[in-house]
Amino acid sequence: MQKVIIIGGGIAGLTAAHVLADYCPEILIIERDVLPAGPVTRSGTPQAYHPHHLTPRGRMILEQLFPGLNDELLQNGAASSLGKEIWFSYPFGDLHIPEPSNEAACSRAFLEWHIRSRVLKKETIQLLPATTVNDLLTDKVHNKVYGVTATRGNETIQLHADMVVVATGFHSHLGEWLNRQGYTIPEPEILTTLLGYSTRHYAFPASPTVPWSLLHIENPEQPEVPTCVVSFMENNVLEVILGNIGGQYPPTDSDGFETVLQLLNIPPLQEVLQQVTPLEAPRGYRIKDVTLRHYEKMESWPGGLLAIGDAFCTFDPIHGTGMTIAAMQAALLQTMLQQRPALDVSFGRDFLKAAARIVEPAWWMNAVADHGHPEVQHKYITPQKGLEFAHVFMEQAMQFAVNLHQPALFGLVWLVKTSFLSPHELINRPMFEMLQEAGLTGPLEALIRAGTATDVAHWQDDRCPDIPDYEDELFIPLQVLQK
Ligand SMILES: Cc1cc2nc3c(=O)[nH]c(=O)nc-3n(C[C@H](O)[C@H](O)[C@H](O)COP(=O)(O)OP(=O)(O)OC[C@H]3O[C@@H](n4cnc5c(N)ncnc54)[C@H](O)[C@@H]3O)c2cc1C
Repeated sequence: MQKVIIIGGGIAGLTAAHVLADYCPEILIIERDVLPAGPVTRSGTPQAYHPHHLTPRGRMILEQLFPGLNDELLQNGAASSLGKEIWFSYPFGDLHIPEPSNEAACSRAFLEWHIRSRVLKKETIQLLPATTVNDLLTDKVHNKVYGVTATRGNETIQLHADMVVVATGFHSHLGEWLNRQGYTIPEPEILTTLLGYSTRHYAFPASPTVPWSLLHIENPEQPEVPTCVVSFMENNVLEVILGNIGGQYPPTDSDGFETVLQLLNIPPLQEVLQQVTPLEAPRGYRIKDVTLRHYEKMESWPGGLLAIGDAFCTFDPIHGTGMTIAAMQAALLQTMLQQRPALDVSFGRDFLKAAARIVEPAWWMNAVADHGHPEVQHKYITPQKGLEFAHVFMEQAMQFAVNLHQPALFGLVWLVKTSFLSPHELINRPMFEMLQEAGLTGPLEALIRAGTATDVAHWQDDRCPDIPDYEDELFIPLQVLQK
């Protein structure tokens, strides 16, 4: 394979370019933005103004792909989590969890800029900025993509390649491009969350001296703003986000935003707010739906084409999933390239099938987390097992962990939520019995009595049969953590 075109220079496009560079002598990243020389938010990725937290899995994979990345981010001004705790505040209690190591916290623009700087150092990778791809070039006879058409200024250009990787993000037009070429796209899964974010950045006077790295506040008093997350990014900037799903959007004007913060009667939040100065007015972001496109199920998929990152599946941002999935797909691409460096004609299709297996548990977990909200709706093509049971189970386990000050159990819930561990590591008979002893299984037993979930007496090998059986190799084994 001589030449690969990657459409989109976001996290998915950059990580894909990085792994492809070991196998292909010519890689061209086509990006519609003029990419800034420094770490600033750009118009092609407006979401980057809002907090972008990495899950443990995402962090681990990015470090494997870019050794030393965490240290580099820290050296260049990212906030350090060394010796700090994450403070959670729920209606049922508070919990402080020690940060496991010295992790860098930064904005999405800062992370992307560091990754981009490393990727563009590779001689085989070229960037074509300020160029918008508007279609694929396909050879119908051989059912193959051989390039793209793009607009650069007033000019329309054609660029040819042996393989095209579509990494065009949340508003990807891949489905329309394929439709135009006569391909039939299967119905997508759609989760309508009506998410609203409002984010404000503040200057912190000196190196942060607070004992926490992140405050996560769930606030029952103000149903229109149930979630507030406060964290540090690079160069002593504090970022505060108010978030909600279900169509009740948080205020995006400065006065409304500050009023909500004042009403949150959480001492560490009030203490930190007294030390900071707003840098700008808050910025809002709304998302109606997130979508899983089943490209892997298409009857005919053109050879020489891949889709990756948000162009394949988008997630509810509040769960911080997207960058992790993009990194997992890049790692998958690397593994497949090691096994099949010649990139045969079915490579793209096989990649999609394997990438869909990565996406499925994360998509299920998003649906579990957002389940139960009266305004959240879903249009699932593939039945999603056990959503309600898993949602209630995880809520009860979290409540148990907070009430009894069990950081390890809370960490287990968190690692299951973020695709690090299999759901069966949490939702199993010993855990059910532990919750039962604590008197927390009432809502679960009600679901069993109503016939919505299988009676515990019929659970096999301690496993709840209502929870999907995703392949073990998609997760990190629990024993690895215990070591
Ligand atoms: C509000 C919000 C908050 C989020 N928070 C988190 C979080 O905390 N943690 C997390 O892991 N994820 C988060 N995400 C998701 C995350 O932004 C993405 O999942 C992740 O960055 C992967 O993105 P990507 O590379 O696929 O797409 P993007 O990062 O969107 O990049 C797509 C790129 O393609 C370019 N492009 C698009 N169309 C064309 C075209 N036709 N021609 C040329 N170039 C094109 C765009 O300019 C852009 O550079 C959040 C998302 C949102 C919306």
